Amino acid sequence: MKRKITLKGIALALLLSASFISNAQEQPRSFGKYPLEPNKYGIVRCASYENELILQQNNPKRATEVQFEAWMQEKLKELREKRKQKSGNTIMTIPVVVHVVYNTSVQNISDEQVQSQIDVLNEDYRMMAGTPGFDDSGLGVDTQIEFCLAKVDMEGNATDGIDRLFTTTTQFTTRQSVEDFKSFTIWDPTQYFNIWTVNWGGELSNLLGYSQFPSESGLQGLADYGGDDFTDGVVISYKNFGSANKVDSNVFQWPYQYGRTATHEIGHALGLRHIWGDDDNCQGNDYCADTPVANAATQGCPLGQDSCPQVGLDMIQNYMDYSNDECMHIFTQNQLDRMLVVLQNSPRRASLLTSTVCGVASTPDLQLLQGTKVYPNPAQNVLNIKVENGDLPDNYAIYNSIGQTVANVKVTTEANLTVDTSAYSNGIYFIKIDKGNESKTIKFIKN
Ligand SMILES: [Zn+2]
Repeated sequence: MKRKITLKGIALALLLSASFISNAQEQPRSFGKYPLEPNKYGIVRCASYENELILQQNNPKRATEVQFEAWMQEKLKELREKRKQKSGNTIMTIPVVVHVVYNTSVQNISDEQVQSQIDVLNEDYRMMAGTPGFDDSGLGVDTQIEFCLAKVDMEGNATDGIDRLFTTTTQFTTRQSVEDFKSFTIWDPTQYFNIWTVNWGGELSNLLGYSQFPSESGLQGLADYGGDDFTDGVVISYKNFGSANKVDSNVFQWPYQYGRTATHEIGHALGLRHIWGDDDNCQGNDYCADTPVANAATQGCPLGQDSCPQVGLDMIQNYMDYSNDECMHIFTQNQLDRMLVVLQNSPRRASLLTSTVCGVASTPDLQLLQGTKVYPNPAQNVLNIKVENGDLPDNYAIYNSIGQTVANVKVTTEANLTVDTSAYSNGIYFIKIDKGNESKTIKFIKN
């Protein structure tokens, strides 16, 4: 049985790589203005680096690499100081919504396939024993980061955390088309980590995925990142989402069929760079001293490869390399430290850890705020909060799209339920309404 699968796998692999190579010659790939180079399988592993360059050009307030890394080094120092005083660790849970974007039934991947991806993320980030995410080399760490599918949607209703979105778009062929789609369909990025599965085509053919790198916080003059908030999250090909180890499906694309694309892309979203530093010839820097310098992205599984004169074999098992899914199983301590800094400080990251959308506790009591609405939406000068039975909420807070609080009101009379929005700048806002131990977040637009 095993042998049969292996032979079938190899035959399929040869067939696929042959067809990708011929495809690669026909179709030049690019991401915005940046050319994308397919690997020997005809696949483009990741476009997060190119995406960050475009975000920086579109938004002059976004931190440059130098600014981000200066901030990161400062925060890492603080983190390591604090760690000396504190013992014990806490599990950090990131609530996820998976937007399954489909035009055909094959792209409308099953609940099981989605769940298998969440399972892989937990195995990899927790370095779980007995799973492919376990590392016995002594180089890998348990990040203590976990992922859960959301149980409550933005209106406070029960959800399975899978948002199925039919689209007439048969293929996403440009970065801009994906960015636009993301901004229309994103769930509150301060409360949910957003993942979209899509079908690529055209200049994005055979791309596995891309991510949005985090912003820093607390630097003078860099507080406003307007425009980047509604595209936050990661986008992944439906063929590379989930694990062929766990789900019997023929959508999976060899050799990236074990869910490591999401592990890699979320690594970027939490502040990690490619281990070769996106610069060839042993010149790149990923700002992690415990990932040896590497010459370039790895293809395949060349264990024992040593591409640079500096000390250390290439860490091809690292999730932030481009190796095949089957050979990845390491996040290092330095990588974890960067992720902790981002999770504790970065906009739309820090708030995920206090989000209650995965909490079972908040679901059964939702009756208290059931039926609570805001109108008109879009709002111009006034936004009204409508409650059932005249039962006033305790308070509400309004956040702009980058998570800054623009209002925080303790509700004592009905008059408090009319919000003067005339001074708000146009854009998307979230209002979080609290009563007892419940809360409900509703998105609204000011124009
Ligand atoms: Zn990448």
